[in-house]
Amino acid sequence: MARKPGSRREFLKLAALSGVSAGMLAGVARGDEPAGGEKATPATRVPRRILGATGESIPILLLGCAQRFNPKYDKILHRAFAAGVDYLDTALAYEDGWSHRTIAPFIKQIGDRGKLWITSKGPGRGGTVAAYTRELDECLAQLETDYLDLYFMHALDDLRFLDPPFLKMGEKMKASGKTRYFGFSCHGKNVVGLLEKAAKSGGIDVIMFAYNFGEYGNLELNRAIDACVKAGIGLIAMKTQKSVPADQEQVVRFRSRNFTLPQAKLKAVWADERITAAVSHINNTRKLRENVAAARSPVALSMDEFQQLQRLATVTAPVSCRGCAEICESRVDAPVAIADTLRFLMYHDAYGEPDKARRLYRALPEPARRADGVDFSRAAAACPRGIDIAARMRRAQRVLATT
Ligand code: SF4
Repeated sequence: MARKPGSRREFLKLAALSGVSAGMLAGVARGDEPAGGEKATPATRVPRRILGATGESIPILLLGCAQRFNPKYDKILHRAFAAGVDYLDTALAYEDGWSHRTIAPFIKQIGDRGKLWITSKGPGRGGTVAAYTRELDECLAQLETDYLDLYFMHALDDLRFLDPPFLKMGEKMKASGKTRYFGFSCHGKNVVGLLEKAAKSGGIDVIMFAYNFGEYGNLELNRAIDACVKAGIGLIAMKTQKSVPADQEQVVRFRSRNFTLPQAKLKAVWADERITAAVSHINNTRKLRENVAAARSPVALSMDEFQQLQRLATVTAPVSCRGCAEICESRVDAPVAIADTLRFLMYHDAYGEPDKARRLYRALPEPARRADGVDFSRAAAACPRGIDIAARMRRAQRVLATT
């Protein structure tokens, strides 16, 4: 049954969120998904939006490819494509190149490169123009393709990468035909500064950044998003689930007739008209069906559902690091990597990826992992999420340093 979505004014009142629209009208999401493998008709494909000033139409749901696919025939890739999820988001670093290498056969199976949008990312090892340029070639070689649709500088956290040498590099890459568009991804550190600088500097077509329902009240971030939209920069959201340990997530029991909690989190991002699309780490067909159903559903989140998400964001804030390392790490008299450590702890506690979490944690230099004998009090006092940083660092040491 149709129901009236909340008005823009109500949403703004609710969470100081600018740009939330009351977009869609009626239908159901749960139980409305196409059977896996079902050939999608145009009517059942996920909706599309225009990616900033590029003018390109892309699906609102993007396939996160930080995984190794089945090179012979991968169900996730093919079923996603059939549902209209024809945008693959990968990176040189994903699965040590195996994401690229196992996407390459899929490109051949589709048989028409033009039917796929492929974004990849170079880590800029060494932080130079030469490194990014070399890495673009590595991406193309591993993917066995002549061009990318979009090339990102991966996980930027330093504003100097938006200085003229790197912007000229982007222009040169586009002129060479090796990528159609250029931009960057950023995970948490200096996100606001990076967005603001990109809006002023020009030369950036698209930005992918961490954005979810937990950021609705973040006025600084909302202003930076507005500036990017005004500058014609296409915006893609990642980390839309704001994952926290399961026991924390259940403190607020999410109730909805229409959506599961992961679906509602995606809908909350899509409700923001400024965001073109959300990338989702879809690593099984059940999740694919759930995500596609949410994307296709014309039902908007109700005010009650928004409020439940707001409560969830508030309750889980103390265990949900948003990666803004520029705030806390400068307030500790030791070279500790707080944001990275808490991210790896999230992989352990919320993603169910303990091996990956331990491997990444142990790869940090010993001083970056220190928890004992370090004074975190100034950092904790400044943390916008109110995280007990000392306690979380000690927990990371306890669960991630062990074999
Ligand atoms: S601990 Fe707090 S200040 Fe530090 S990165 Fe996480 S959310 Fe930001």
